[in-house]
Amino acid sequence: MRARAPINRILQSSIVDGPGNRAVVFVQGCGFNCPYCHNPETISLCNACGLCVPACPAGALFAEGGRVLWDRERCTLCDACLRRCPWNASPRVWYTDAAQVMDAIAPALGYIRGITVSGGECTLYPDFLRELGAEAHARDLGFLLDSNGSYDFAADPALLRTVDGVMLDIKASPAEYAAAAGREAAYILDRAVFLAERGKLPEIRTVVSPGLFDAAAAVEEACRRLAETASPPRYRLIRYRPNGVRGEAAARLREPDEALMRSLAAICDSFGIERIIT
Ligand code: SF4
Ligand code: SF4
Repeated sequence: MRARAPINRILQSSIVDGPGNRAVVFVQGCGFNCPYCHNPETISLCNACGLCVPACPAGALFAEGGRVLWDRERCTLCDACLRRCPWNASPRVWYTDAAQVMDAIAPALGYIRGITVSGGECTLYPDFLRELGAEAHARDLGFLLDSNGSYDFAADPALLRTVDGVMLDIKASPAEYAAAAGREAAYILDRAVFLAERGKLPEIRTVVSPGLFDAAAAVEEACRRLAETASPPRYRLIRYRPNGVRGEAAARLREPDEALMRSLAAICDSFGIERIIT
């Protein structure tokens, strides 16, 4: 039986999820809980509490057999269910295998350069990723992952071979990870170094919000660890913006000023790390 993963949405084409025009698959579920998450409805799997069912104005949700079912045809994508869900989940999720993903993006195959799997956290579903990567390569498409860096690729050489690269988030310096990601993860830079030594880390990313964590310390430590690797990544320094975020923790976040972003860029420059500010 083919591996399946819970899918939140599939874009046939995007120019902001890796190089060139790419199909993007967003999986549901993530082990982290970052206050600045721009896709907060992908953090949790639905627990079938049923709260969103009466909130749906289109009658597109049904509680049945201990599950909440979604009628895609009736859904108007109004997002009332997402606003009602207190768990950062979504009822608009379906389980899909790699062949079904390829069917969904078939109209775009003539002009996309690759597939990016994002989320949520895609590495929660390694069997699905191995099969989707094989499908991508069979069509000469690149295969990138957008990941929080929590997966141990050293223990999964088959997935490492399948993946062309990982665009990996550095949420904070190891000492401050819990503040920025909702979970301790002091090992993330080790995972990043492992990928960079094998030429599989095209990009790292840090979302910058003053006061949430010491951004200068995070960027400096990442640069110091990665600058000497066989294939240092590009560093994407991302200004926090309050688009799509939810919750009390997000309401307390601040946007960085230009001086802070320039100072972080200067740290990258001092280590010879290519960087971009977005
Ligand atoms: S987005 Fe959610 S609330 Fe709105 S119509 Fe679709 S299922 Fe119903
Ligand atoms: S999507 Fe959220 S509110 Fe709706 S049933 Fe699932 S957990 Fe409950």
